[in-house]
Amino acid sequence: MQDFIRISKYAGMRNDLAQAGGGNTSCKLDDHIMLVKSSGYQLADVNGQAGYSRVDYRKIADYFKEHVEAYAEDVFTEEDGSRLLKEAQIEGGRASIETFLHAITGKYTLHSHPLLVNILTARADAGNILKELFPKAVFVPYRKPGAALAEAYDKIYRAGQAQGADGTIVFLQNHGLVVSGDDADTVIGKTEQVLSRIAAYLGVDDSACRAATQLYKVIGEIEALAGNIVYLSENRYLSREYAGSGLVEQGIWDHAFCPDCVVYAGKKVLWLKKEYDRQDILDFMEAHGMPTLVYYEGYFYILAESVKKAQEIENVMSFAARVQYVNKGQEMHYLSDAQEDELLNWDAEKYRRKRA
Ligand SMILES: [Zn+2]
Repeated sequence: MQDFIRISKYAGMRNDLAQAGGGNTSCKLDDHIMLVKSSGYQLADVNGQAGYSRVDYRKIADYFKEHVEAYAEDVFTEEDGSRLLKEAQIEGGRASIETFLHAITGKYTLHSHPLLVNILTARADAGNILKELFPKAVFVPYRKPGAALAEAYDKIYRAGQAQGADGTIVFLQNHGLVVSGDDADTVIGKTEQVLSRIAAYLGVDDSACRAATQLYKVIGEIEALAGNIVYLSENRYLSREYAGSGLVEQGIWDHAFCPDCVVYAGKKVLWLKKEYDRQDILDFMEAHGMPTLVYYEGYFYILAESVKKAQEIENVMSFAARVQYVNKGQEMHYLSDAQEDELLNWDAEKYRRKRA
């Protein structure tokens, strides 16, 4: 369960992996039961209590074996799909039609819509490029998401396995990526490997995204921070060009001029040096309390419980950046340490932050 949540949050926190409610994750508990992210839920919001459905994936796999594989194309209709999904569903929210992509893969599966992968899968010669870069991966040509895709996926996946593909990496043309493995580290690591290889092939710098994954791993080992996501800000004021070199790198970022800023982002920005470790974060926590806004190698990251909260904090911090930037050279009035403490312990403010 912890691994299932970790993979879900990893993909959900990354704008480049899952846009809006896209992408899904699953975890097979035994020979029958699989947890799969429910439709209508965002990946980063999956937790122990909500955001997933329980389905009998054996029913799905057997159905395909008996009724679909041996027959010609397009035997599996949308009606068959909804009926089978309903039959397989045990409990929890509505399982999405993409549940079929998970029924025959490994123990943990992540289906994402990565920007880098789709730069290639959107090309006319996607199949050839991907075969060259990932000889062992499975490639599924475009089908309408839903029953048609499920059918093609099942047939090609099994045919690929019969020909020696290990089935842990699947590319869906004009759509995305499916990666599976025995635990969260394997699935996240493999997804990152695919992305790095494509980034190198395209000559694209994806270091900011990789840094988010690295930081996610490090905070996952700190009890008080585990469970948070790491959200990479793409706000133009929270950029190296503006607040990065203009404020943080000059050592003059201080958002303690406004009560909301303190409530949303704590006392200080955490500026991590290139080679940082867990201890650097623990030292910061000892001195300044919980970190929320992190600056690393020219990028701003936000630690928060959900994407929605991270975006609210981003909103407030973008405002903080602009006020400070325009006031450079002016003497500002800051809240005292005692006034900050007062805010951070103020129940009404806490309540407002929690509820938001
Ligand atoms: Zn998809």
